[in-house]
Amino acid sequence: MLVKDLSLSETDNSRWVLKTMDGRHMLLNQASATLVQLLQKHHDYEAAVQAFNLHFNTDLSTETFRQLTKEKLSGFQILTEEENGKVQKKGKYLHLQVPFFSPSVAGALSAPFRFLYSPRLFFVLISILAGVVAWILISYPSQQAFEWTNVNLLLLACLVYPSVLIHELGHIAASRAAGVEHGEVGFAFYLIFPVLYSDVTNIWQVPKKRRIIVNLAGATNELLYAVCLFLIFYFTGNKTLLTAFYLINLKILFELNPFVRMDGYWVFSDITNTPNLLPKANKLVKDVFGAVFSRSKHLPAAFSRTDKWLIIYGMANTAFILIYMGFMLVSHFDSIIHFPAILLDLFMKMIRMELSFNNLKSEYLFVFIFYWLVGRMLYHFILKNSRVTSAKLGRVAY
Ligand SMILES: [Zn+2]
Repeated sequence: MLVKDLSLSETDNSRWVLKTMDGRHMLLNQASATLVQLLQKHHDYEAAVQAFNLHFNTDLSTETFRQLTKEKLSGFQILTEEENGKVQKKGKYLHLQVPFFSPSVAGALSAPFRFLYSPRLFFVLISILAGVVAWILISYPSQQAFEWTNVNLLLLACLVYPSVLIHELGHIAASRAAGVEHGEVGFAFYLIFPVLYSDVTNIWQVPKKRRIIVNLAGATNELLYAVCLFLIFYFTGNKTLLTAFYLINLKILFELNPFVRMDGYWVFSDITNTPNLLPKANKLVKDVFGAVFSRSKHLPAAFSRTDKWLIIYGMANTAFILIYMGFMLVSHFDSIIHFPAILLDLFMKMIRMELSFNNLKSEYLFVFIFYWLVGRMLYHFILKNSRVTSAKLGRVAY
């Protein structure tokens, strides 16, 4: 074999997913997949090039063919002749991952939810849930839920925190239902926010509909839990349960927004058939602006429908960031200017063990996000490494 031990499986729209030895996933088009299959079948390049020429009706020499395979597949630990260790860097947006439940424990905990995520039941379930939640939101307006005097904060925390784990178990249950091997549930930092995650990278191997179910399963599990809390409120009248119901729904709304790499992002990515959604959308937006502001560049004559959606999506994303930065500059200018000094001061207090909660303001978090956005922009501007590769298909769900 000219390639290493790989698994290649067809997804949708004649695209293929290749799982490499180090557990990464690459998306291949039909032609590349055929190339890999030929390399799997044959033991030397002479035989492979003959089969290749026959299949694609070409007349490549062995040397050209070898070059072509190298160009297409090197750097990903696919080719047998490639030395080990020269691996391209993974795109990483999760930091400091700490496993929490091993795959087998996570699988066992998710067992009770598994039956919900067969395609036949799922779409019925989610329609009913959406209807029920809409009815609750209309019948019990938010003013009732947020009368804080009626709320027991300790009970509220005890009710809301478990929803994070229930959410992850939804993802695991749905990947089990799809017959896909999953990884662990763990704790990590997304950008700077602590999150729980579940490793469901292997769902690239299943069709689109299944992937969408896996991505929505977290929110669905949470909705079920929230409705249970509402029922208890309905029969006992304890207002804290209604508050918990509202908070969990707000959380779900945030998780389903498509601008951060959370569940909504992946659903959008699957619907538009665009892995690497955000990098690709940003590149399209850059192309459009490039063409508008400099006449040397020109745009393709026609954008596909998906491209148009991606441009709208990319522009909305850019607008969000710019509005945030503009708002921060206008309203928190002083804090932004003094932030380095504030940080130093906090650091000194910490060393002298004088740091208390009163020293920390929620404002610092927003200023920190401002600096982080500026830093990220500078980083991309200096390195200009916006190359979109199909190797960055890592996928975890929060
Ligand atoms: Zn999730």
